[in-house]
Amino acid sequence: MRAQRNEFSAHPPNDDSDCHSRFRPSRREFLGSAFAAGATAVLAPSLLSRSFAQSAPAAGSAKAARIDLHYHVTPPALIQELGAQPFANAASNWTPEQRLMDLDRNGVAAAMCSIAPQGDPLADASKAVKLARECNEYFARMATDHPGRFGVFASLPLPNVDAALHEIEYAFNTLKADGIALFTVYGDKWLGDPAFDPIFAELNRRKAVLFTHPNTANCCRNLLPNVGDGTIEWGTDTTRAITNLLFTGTAARYPNVRMTFSHGGGTMPYLVERFEALAKSPKFASQFPQGFAAAAGKFYYDTAWTTNPEAMSALSKLVPVSQIVFGTDFPYLTAADQLKGLKECGAFSAADLEKIDSQNALALVPRFRV
Ligand SMILES: [Zn+2]
Repeated sequence: MRAQRNEFSAHPPNDDSDCHSRFRPSRREFLGSAFAAGATAVLAPSLLSRSFAQSAPAAGSAKAARIDLHYHVTPPALIQELGAQPFANAASNWTPEQRLMDLDRNGVAAAMCSIAPQGDPLADASKAVKLARECNEYFARMATDHPGRFGVFASLPLPNVDAALHEIEYAFNTLKADGIALFTVYGDKWLGDPAFDPIFAELNRRKAVLFTHPNTANCCRNLLPNVGDGTIEWGTDTTRAITNLLFTGTAARYPNVRMTFSHGGGTMPYLVERFEALAKSPKFASQFPQGFAAAAGKFYYDTAWTTNPEAMSALSKLVPVSQIVFGTDFPYLTAADQLKGLKECGAFSAADLEKIDSQNALALVPRFRV
């Protein structure tokens, strides 16, 4: 039996497509025209009956520019496809209005929506293309209906590279996504595998933001009875993806892709001594002229599940504070808990905390600047 999953994961790009943005329909225009054209085949049916009331930012939220980079939403299409069981957390399927109340309560100005790995939502290749599209359109509608409050990290139906390239174009050009969300692994291929080079080439061309989120590789499901994959495997899988991206030279070949890693980079900060040694070895020394830490320090790392003194002191010693961004992993953790952890972990000054709260994330999603 497969292990129970615990949780997943535009101003776009300053790519050349931006030059054409004024010729493209806005997200609202597109969705409006899609409905007018009876595009029910591509939009989840539940969308049509759900009331997405317009919602201006609540009083006070304009001042609080806190941005949650690691924020999960379960679109109705996923619940229809996978059933409710993988999303048993009551807040998984909150309405946008319930979400806004929670964001306001915690002073979060904007949340970047991505799907969670529960139920391995895109594992069925025969359904992944349609599901990814429905999820992305759902997020785009949340962002349109609640301006300035929700951002879009669009999912791709990998390992189907051709379909994924098509979805990148649709996500950025039509849905105006803020970035792309990829799992660290698809089957037994980690990010950095040559099979994904066309994806990285396109994201590099678009100077895209890439939010990455761990999942469980085929090799490593349910290894310890009664210990969910999220507990050990996901932090480890994040480390595998970072390692593969750096040591295959993928990150260096596609330097314009602005990558974020979940959960403080997993176990990577703890294992850094081994990575530094490997980077200095004859095989890799030319790839790491400034060493491993300098290369890893170009990525961004969110704080979800790592706001404890041990994890944050390690991460903050390894990478500049400019690379650390606030993330909650909602609904599995709350913003209040993560904020308390960050304040009390002892790794950051008040000025650092402000950067982590919003300034660092604004480098990735500048449209949320208030
Ligand atoms: Zn997550």
